Amino acid sequence: MRLDGVVAHYDLVIIGTGSGNSLLDPRFAGWRVAMVERGVFGGTCLNVGCIPTKMFVHAADLAAVPGHSARLGVDTTLDGVRWADIRDRVFGRIDPIAAGGQAYRVEHPDNANVTVYAGNARFTGERRLEITPNDGSPAETITADRVVLAAGGRATVPDIDGIHDVPLHTSDTIMRIPELPRRLVILGGGFIAAEFAHVFSSFGVEVTVVARSGALLRAEDRDVSLRFTELAQQRWDVRLDRKAVRAQNHDGGVRLHLEGPHGAETVDADLLLVATGRTPNADQLDVAAGGITTAPSGHVVVDEYQRTSAEGVWALGDISSPYELKHVANHEARIVQHNLLHPDQPKAADHRFVPHAVFTSPQIAAVGITEQEAESRGIPWIAATQTFGGIAYGWAMEDETGFAKVIADPDTAQILGAHIIGPQAPTLIQPIIQAMSFDLDARTMATGQYWIHPGMPEVVENALLNLPFPQ
Ligand SMILES: Cc1cc2nc3c(=O)[nH]c(=O)nc-3n(C[C@H](O)[C@H](O)[C@H](O)COP(=O)(O)OP(=O)(O)OC[C@H]3O[C@@H](n4cnc5c(N)ncnc54)[C@H](O)[C@@H]3O)c2cc1C
Repeated sequence: MRLDGVVAHYDLVIIGTGSGNSLLDPRFAGWRVAMVERGVFGGTCLNVGCIPTKMFVHAADLAAVPGHSARLGVDTTLDGVRWADIRDRVFGRIDPIAAGGQAYRVEHPDNANVTVYAGNARFTGERRLEITPNDGSPAETITADRVVLAAGGRATVPDIDGIHDVPLHTSDTIMRIPELPRRLVILGGGFIAAEFAHVFSSFGVEVTVVARSGALLRAEDRDVSLRFTELAQQRWDVRLDRKAVRAQNHDGGVRLHLEGPHGAETVDADLLLVATGRTPNADQLDVAAGGITTAPSGHVVVDEYQRTSAEGVWALGDISSPYELKHVANHEARIVQHNLLHPDQPKAADHRFVPHAVFTSPQIAAVGITEQEAESRGIPWIAATQTFGGIAYGWAMEDETGFAKVIADPDTAQILGAHIIGPQAPTLIQPIIQAMSFDLDARTMATGQYWIHPGMPEVVENALLNLPFPQ
């Protein structure tokens, strides 16, 4: 240890092993690198986010088949849902990947230049960090020429009276519960709430969704949010415009006290899932002590090169990105990687056309602006919709609720946005993301290629053809 208390100095310190773990490749072999991880190696997406949720969603989609098949003349029944087997398939696959990723960094000769710290990092100065090891050993201080913040975000739990006295879960813990509850109350109306409501209700759990606003998924295009809310109300007990004011332990379960348009009411359930939002981990890292600026949202502020306000410090993913999506974190990791290796020819991140999907039922996907955004920003636009029920494959599926909407510039035909609710929405939207990214206009996209008949992408083709361009 040096006299100033510093144990080691590195060329690069990476905080967080989610997308941060993908930065290192053989080009960093000559660098002295430290990685700091306070939780499970591999981060949110792998361990408690995108991947396990979608593995549960796929099982839920199968469990939901009997609910849809009878109207096609196929009578199926659900014989049972083996929760323990569903859960263990998911984590039996994921946990070894996380452990293998860690072992690779810690033990493999390719990573002889990498030191992995299992502990919590906190800034105590510019590019100076105190690491508090998870095993209780004394804290160490390390310094670095460069630091990458890839420390993500965390689920927040609202400050509701009594909430910690009830069986409370967030997305971090709900997927590992020992058995299915009979009743689940979900607080929140965003994408995590929508995905878990689908999963648990498909497995036979009685689901109540409590949302503060008047619609679910209200960040989506208004027609999508409206349609999803209507469908959700047919499937779950949906309480909109409700404020949860108190949680109470009731017979080992939860009694949630709500206030809403009809006054005071209660919801009883066996478990409470809080899905009210996430916050960046910048505060817990004491980034201000490192000279790093944050926005009012708590995100670390970065420029187009993913540089923070502090010299030699970059940030990527949920800690700095308002999108909070894995494909965005991955893109930003590639940008940071390039800029670390080629500081004289830095590349800018491209956030022009960031898509997202909600893997609920029906599935939802979107890219670009919504109609309400076009309206509020004063952007001239035209929009057209095509229902799944109006294309041949939609007849095959007997779909009566899905649609694709495209939004375009009336003068240039440039595609400004697309919003799909219905089967395979995340797959169907990809050609539109491609068209927007490579500047293919709506007319050329619709008429300049074959569209397989009678494939589902005809819903996108027809939405494009329906656009009411001025003559
Ligand atoms: C339930 C759920 C479902 C999701 N589904 C999707 C989806 O379908 N598609 C999609 O695109 N995105 C999805 N996301 C979002 C996606 O998971 C995140 O955008 C992505 O994982 C962020 O990656 P990251 O590298 O920024 O951070 P993370 O993967 O969160 O990694 C940050 C790491 O830093 C560590 N860390 C934090 N603070 C410290 C500290 N002080 N010291 C040391 N280590 C620290 C953490 O332990 C963590 O391992 C989902 C998220 C959730 C919660």
